[in-house]
Formats: sequence, C-alpha cells, structure tokens
Amino acid sequence: MFSFEVQKKSKKSKARVGTLKTPHGVIKTPAFIPVATLGVIKGALDSDDLKSAGVQCQITNTFHFIDLDATARVGKQGGLHKFFNIEHPIFTDSGGFQVFSLGKGTAFGIGKVGSIFPGEKSDLKQRSQGLVKIFEEGVRFRSPRDGREIMLTPESSAKAQMQLGADFAYLLDICGAVVDDKNASLRDLERTNRWYERYLKVHKSKKQKTFGIVQGGLFKDLRQKSVESLNELPVFGIAIGGALGKSQREMFKIISFVNEKIDWGRPHHLLGIGDLKSIPEIIKLGIDLFDCALPTRVARHGTAFTSRGYIDVKRGVYKNAFRPISAACACPTCRVYALAHVHFLFKAKEPLGGRLLTIHNLWFLEKYVEGIRRKIALGKF
Ligand SMILES: [Zn+2]
Repeated sequence: MFSFEVQKKSKKSKARVGTLKTPHGVIKTPAFIPVATLGVIKGALDSDDLKSAGVQCQITNTFHFIDLDATARVGKQGGLHKFFNIEHPIFTDSGGFQVFSLGKGTAFGIGKVGSIFPGEKSDLKQRSQGLVKIFEEGVRFRSPRDGREIMLTPESSAKAQMQLGADFAYLLDICGAVVDDKNASLRDLERTNRWYERYLKVHKSKKQKTFGIVQGGLFKDLRQKSVESLNELPVFGIAIGGALGKSQREMFKIISFVNEKIDWGRPHHLLGIGDLKSIPEIIKLGIDLFDCALPTRVARHGTAFTSRGYIDVKRGVYKNAFRPISAACACPTCRVYALAHVHFLFKAKEPLGGRLLTIHNLWFLEKYVEGIRRKIALGKF
C-alpha cells in the first residue's frame, strides 16, 4: 500500500525524483505540501478547487482538532478524507510544532529561522510567557482559542492522529527554538527520544505510516545523535524540524549537514520551508517533501508568486494590468481573470480576491516544482 521509490538521482547535486505511493494516490517528489490547518486550505477553497489547482497532497494540524475537541468526531465519520471530501494523500503533524509556535515562538516573537531571516539578529528578547509548559509526561497548552488547559502526550498525539486517519502521521517531538542553548537542546532531544518510544508503542495502524522528526537545534553533534537514533526506528520517513539558524545561510548549512545523514532509502521532509528562493536550494540538498503556510498566507494578503518573484497585486500599477498574474500562467484563476481584476477585488476587500490568488499561488508552485522535477529527470539540475 505504501512505498517510496527513487527514479532518478542527479549527478550535479543531491536532488532526486521519486514516487511516494499511498492508499490515496501517488505523490511525485520532490513535492510541495500545502498547509491545510483545519483540514481545509484557508481562503475558502473546497476540494474541487484543490483538484483544479493541481494540489498533490496536504498537511493538516492535529493540535487544532484537539483544541476543538473534534478528533473523535472526525474519526467516527471515517477520518479527514471522508469528513472533508478529500481524495489526495494527507499528512497530519503531531502537535510538536505548536510546542514551539505557542511556546517560545509566541514568547519571543520568533519563527523557525530566527525571526524570519532577520540578518544576524541577536537581540531576541522574551516578550511573554507563551502558552506552553513541557513536562516528562507531555506538554500542557493553554488553548489559544478559549484558554482552557490541554495536555498533549506522545500517546494522545498518536491516538488523535489515528482518529484523523491521514496517510502519514508524525512522532510527537519538542520543537526547539533558536534561543535554546546547548543544554536545553540536549535535554529536549533526550526527552523527545523517550517520547518517540512511547508514541511507537501505542501507534498501531496499518493504514497510516509515521515520520520521525530530527531535532537537536543548532548543534551538529546533537543533530547527528538525533538522526542516528531515528535511522534505527521503524519510521517510514524522516523530517527535519526545529530551529534552523538565524539566517538563510545558516539554515542551508544545517539542512545540508542533517540531510546527508538521513537514511536515503526513506523520504526526507523539511518542515515549514517553502519560499521561492529556498525551494531550488533545498531540493538540491536532497529534500523530497517540504510544507509551508507562506504561499497561501501571503495570497490572502495580496502577494502573488510569479516567474519574476513576488508581487503585491494591490499596487496601483496593476489597476489596468489586463494580463495574467504571472506570464503565461494557465491556472484556473488566470484562465478567467486578469491581474487587474484581482487587484480590483483586493481593493474592494472582496474575499474572492484572496481565494483566486490562493488558487494561483498553489498552481504556480506545483508547476514550479514540476519544472524542477523535469530538469532533474533530464540530468539538468
Ligand atoms: Zn495564475
């Protein structure tokens, strides 16, 4: 039912093309995984929109379903695929990312890479307590929605992900932050490894495969230790998570070092990176899967992905731009609407603008990555 096969490896880089087979179809890799936080992609896209945008798969956030007390309900309805009428493969993260985003991410106002490539910014100051407390047993969250307490453990994460019934689940990890020193990173890594054992003891599903997540922060020896233990675990794929440095350069160094050591027989997933500049670079480093909320989030605020980079469709210069959003784009949006129309909708604050641009960005990225796959297959990447 599940398999990962590499069809072609580049001689110029570590890039490779492959196929990831699942009970819900085949994902051609390298592949971009759009983020569908609550099962649906924000911007009011339904399952037909996702199909026409050429989306191959999606990643959904387990934590938010737990926060809404909805995992059992979705499970009873046959899982995420049935609940949302989705045909393509689904990934669900474990909640580990929210350990970071609602914890140190919120407390320090930072992203996975410093504060989103801040240059060599070093003045990261704690602004608040965050909403997370970590114990040996698990993580205690304060719900960002209604403030009630939620306890997430390796066992409850495994159970919730089995109920959601995605094709791929993730081990529960403690996602580190750039502010962590070595002692903190080591303590979290050792605890994460104990959580992995606990998770795997209760995760019993033939219909769902699991990915492990490399932690260890900014420290090479800890990253290595983390990869080595994951390579020994019965996980289908391995993802790179946690803090990736304080600049884009540092990020590529960490990814390169870690990716090199991950078992090449399994799919390699880079968590949370998907900007236009990084995509070719991470594929060259041998990344097979990458997910990111950025392409759809910026679309809702008027930023389009184009062959010339990002543009803000709200700018006055696009008032009379009766041409596609990106040159020669054949996406469902550009087939019908010109840049000037989308500009108008954003200026008029009509939600259709965000929806149309989200469809465009998703299509654009799918085609962009498809182009890279073609180049790898031809030995040109
Ligand atoms: Zn388009």
